[in-house]
Amino acid sequence: MFRFAVAPDRCSILPVAILVAGLLAAPARSQTAAVSLASGAPAAPASPSGPSVFAATPAQPAAGTALRVFDPSLIDKAVDPCENFYQFSCNGWFKRNSLPADETRYGRFTELLELNRQHLRQILEEAAAPSTARAANEQKIGDEYASCMDTATVNRLGLQSLEPELDRIAALNTAQDLPALLAHLQAIGVSTFFGMGSGQDFADSSAVISFYSSDGLGLPERDYYTRTDAQSELTRRQYVAHVRRIFVLAGEPDRQAAADAEAVLAIETRLAKASLTITEQRDPQNLNHPTDMASFSRELTHFSLAEYLATAHASATGKVNDNEPRFFAEFNRLLADTPISQIRIYLRWHLLHAYAGTSLPESFDQENWDFYAHTLNGAQKQQERWKRCTIRVDQEMGEALGQVYVARYFPPEEKQRTLEMTQSIEQAMDKEIGGLDWMSVATKIRAKEKLRAVMNKIGYPEKWRDYSTLKIVRGDALGNQMRAHEFEFARDLAKIGRPVDKGEWQMTPPTVNAYYDPQMNNVNFPAGYLQPPFFSGAEDDAANYGDMGSTIGHELTHGFDDQGRQFDKDGNLRNWWSQQDEEKFNQRAECMVKQYDAIEAVPGVHLNGKLTLGENLADLGGLWLAWLAWLDQANAAHVPMTATTEGYTPDQRFWIAYAQQWCTQTRPEQLRTQAQSDPHAPDEYRTNSVLQDLPEFARSFSCKKTAAMVSAKPCRVW
Ligand SMILES: [Zn+2]
Repeated sequence: MFRFAVAPDRCSILPVAILVAGLLAAPARSQTAAVSLASGAPAAPASPSGPSVFAATPAQPAAGTALRVFDPSLIDKAVDPCENFYQFSCNGWFKRNSLPADETRYGRFTELLELNRQHLRQILEEAAAPSTARAANEQKIGDEYASCMDTATVNRLGLQSLEPELDRIAALNTAQDLPALLAHLQAIGVSTFFGMGSGQDFADSSAVISFYSSDGLGLPERDYYTRTDAQSELTRRQYVAHVRRIFVLAGEPDRQAAADAEAVLAIETRLAKASLTITEQRDPQNLNHPTDMASFSRELTHFSLAEYLATAHASATGKVNDNEPRFFAEFNRLLADTPISQIRIYLRWHLLHAYAGTSLPESFDQENWDFYAHTLNGAQKQQERWKRCTIRVDQEMGEALGQVYVARYFPPEEKQRTLEMTQSIEQAMDKEIGGLDWMSVATKIRAKEKLRAVMNKIGYPEKWRDYSTLKIVRGDALGNQMRAHEFEFARDLAKIGRPVDKGEWQMTPPTVNAYYDPQMNNVNFPAGYLQPPFFSGAEDDAANYGDMGSTIGHELTHGFDDQGRQFDKDGNLRNWWSQQDEEKFNQRAECMVKQYDAIEAVPGVHLNGKLTLGENLADLGGLWLAWLAWLDQANAAHVPMTATTEGYTPDQRFWIAYAQQWCTQTRPEQLRTQAQSDPHAPDEYRTNSVLQDLPEFARSFSCKKTAAMVSAKPCRVW
């Protein structure tokens, strides 16, 4: 499903390719939503001797009981809070936590992720115990987990279950047969050439139409193929070496594998060059090219769209959004002038690539980890397999697993308290919009209308997804992965032409993340995130507003960032701004573009101020709104503002709780990948750069005007 710029609060770091069973076979950008968990790092191969599936060590005691939202023990009093607030707030955490070898970044976010995984593991191990008393969903999640954990069977089966697919590709003799084959491969989760799926019409968000977008790359994004610096050249050579080794593992002679890997790079480079950059993709106008199936079909002179759609069981009529016309023109040319033998190689690579995780023998698994997690992101060791299998079941059947998770770990009171906090921040935003000195009255009215129309979704869906047509067979990890993809592919296509389901979630309930959806105009906070150290019913408002409150404000602000503001209250791409207000917004936003462009994240690599603009606007606006809402609450409750608790006044606790959510260790390789391709700034800047723009922060700590944490010319939009 195409979700435009659904903006997860936490950055997505690991490339899609290493996600265990990414069910997001639909258009590439839809991946933004659900890949956002920083959890994709592949796990270590289990012992070849094949331990019995559930003889693993029992889940550790709930370490999370000790996790706090405001934690004074993490503070380093030797650091001046006005000089480096991130170090002041987090040094204690840094001293206590080294970066685990299997992680590429490790922070408080990962702490919660680890705890949630322990909880999910327990649920899955219980469900995996064979019993005739299991409910249908229990059988599915339990047997899928057991199949994934059963490395002995996975190793023994080898490529056997993939043979029919390899044979289909080998049998491709003419370009005329390609459409049906592509539809089949995309259905089973192999991303080749382009993405196709359902999406809300940009012009009419109530209509679900067909979307076509660029896809089919093995490196994280387009610019990995076009940058000419030495590091990028090296990465491409390392990628080619990886593709070559995968071909060798699949049985090709090395010399042929070497030539084939070059052919893959050549095709992908051509596709990449014709694709929009990730910064260009952030502007919805660049992706809005409405047409109809007949016209789109006529453009593709070397590809029978009718045959493709027939195999995909997709509607052959109706409105289409051709996201990237230039890309599809190049795809069409490529089909005309590329020998079919080269296309077979490209498809073969992507088939092996799609399954080279927990479904294939550990030699593939290890090689996949080595390039995507180790080379690209600096991981030193694979994650344990149970973690990856947990992630896999969450991705494939997240609402079946999530239903049990929510019943155990998300009490109704927490949902109620989060809802109240969200409403108070919405009220603060309403008041703030009313008081803006740069916006005209007419635009303010529409901004407030949009704000009031935001739907708050908290914890989990009202209606759970029906998995009854998904067949899960114990002992068939690869088959299960294929069927899970087919299930998702069909579920997605079935939405075309039907009314929009506003209750649907793009993240599963156990996810440690949140998002705003501009076409739905809703904010979404999964239950997995509404836990310590980000939110706790046991802690005071100062801590909860500084932390989870800032996230709620962040997601709301996305509705008014450089992308979100282009959508109206109904989620239609329609300009509701006066020209003058738009200019003023852009001038103010430009301040932030410059601020973040100036940051050198790793030697030689600066942050991209335009790419990160939406997130930076949301960070600053969100924290400001949380602050205003908290002040209102504190005043109403007559909180004594000069009294200290654990050594800090309520306002200081608010800022510290904000900063402590970002305590994170990151490997330099990961930092480079993030700086080049992630719309979120690294965590250090999500703390210090944001606070530098808020004079209220400086007042709380009596910072001098010349202090490092005080900007001489603070940026401010919302
Ligand atoms: Zn965000």
